[in-house]
Amino acid sequence: MIFCCIVDENNVPLPLTFTRIFKHMESNIKSIGILTSGGDSPGMNAAIRAVTRAAIFSGMRVYGIYRGFRGLVFNEIEEFQTNSVSNIIKQGGTILKTARSEEFKTVEGRKRAYENLKKHNIDALVVIGGDGSLTGAGIFANEFNIPVVGLPGTIDNDLNGTDTTIGYDTALNTIMESMDRLRDTATSHERLFFVEVMGRNCGYLALNSAIASGAEAAIIPEISIEKDQLAELIDQGFRKSKNSSMVLVAESEVTGGAMKLAERVKRQYPSYDVRVTILGHLQRGGSPTAEDRILASRMGIAAIQAFQENQRNVMIGIRENEIVYVPFKRAIKKEREISDELLEVLRISSI
Ligand code: ATP
Repeated sequence: MIFCCIVDENNVPLPLTFTRIFKHMESNIKSIGILTSGGDSPGMNAAIRAVTRAAIFSGMRVYGIYRGFRGLVFNEIEEFQTNSVSNIIKQGGTILKTARSEEFKTVEGRKRAYENLKKHNIDALVVIGGDGSLTGAGIFANEFNIPVVGLPGTIDNDLNGTDTTIGYDTALNTIMESMDRLRDTATSHERLFFVEVMGRNCGYLALNSAIASGAEAAIIPEISIEKDQLAELIDQGFRKSKNSSMVLVAESEVTGGAMKLAERVKRQYPSYDVRVTILGHLQRGGSPTAEDRILASRMGIAAIQAFQENQRNVMIGIRENEIVYVPFKRAIKKEREISDELLEVLRISSI
């Protein structure tokens, strides 16, 4: 059994409905397509597996669509059986491959995609990806009246209406391990390290990585750091009593990235031994953590349940450990706020 609730426009959960999963519900959906889109994230395979198995369990046919929306436009579609997804729960990346598709951004491209769905008698679509993928999914669903359910597959944790996204926990752990290694060098050489992590315009990955790795500071796009503040931060952290300093920087136009910040500090403190590490794509791959596998499995099964409950154009989210349906419009709003409590935890624990 799982709990499901719908989040309204103001992100307030509407009353919970208690639902027994796969209770025989009338659904017009006899076959679904599944695709992964945008950047890969660990746990996408676990989600593909759960969606496939849940759909077959409830009597639906399942079609794997390769290379995201591009595969939909170019008809790279193949029917899946339960064993098509055997032994993939532990694999990073996505067995369906992923791609960015410019064709799908055009009406003609989406029309071709729709025709391919019809060719295979696919009634509904599960899209696993980030905000761009869910934006495209929403447009497609409205244009052709196709039921679409999204799963938040991104390491950035930048979608609204869900506490976390598939891949975020694994990426966090990967960054933490890298930080632990870098700390050994930073301490041995008494260095100041700027470490850049992904996150697009969202600082969750950087902030939580900073807390988990005992970093001295996190520079994130949500909080503007003036020149003097940066200097003060460095001063406090490095000069006082510490023999090394680690600063997490979220990649973003707003922060300017680790390189720029490091150059600025070098100019101001020529005596400091300043180094930069950009973790880049190392953060994306790897076997998903137990948390991501479980999250992806729950969300994948909830996607099929959503169809059975006649939901459409919703992303499956998780709030306070309960599955929720979040309308696409709300999920992709670019306004996710950073938690003041987390900022405080970092500030106090790093003095
Ligand atoms: P990540 O967060 O990992 O970067 P993402 O899903 O945000 O993942 P994007 O590159 O932004 O990744 O989007 C993936 C794909 O979604 C695009 O290549 C395109 O095919 C489709 N897409 C994005 N925006 C639109 C749009 N406005 N209209 C139609 N399709 C879109």
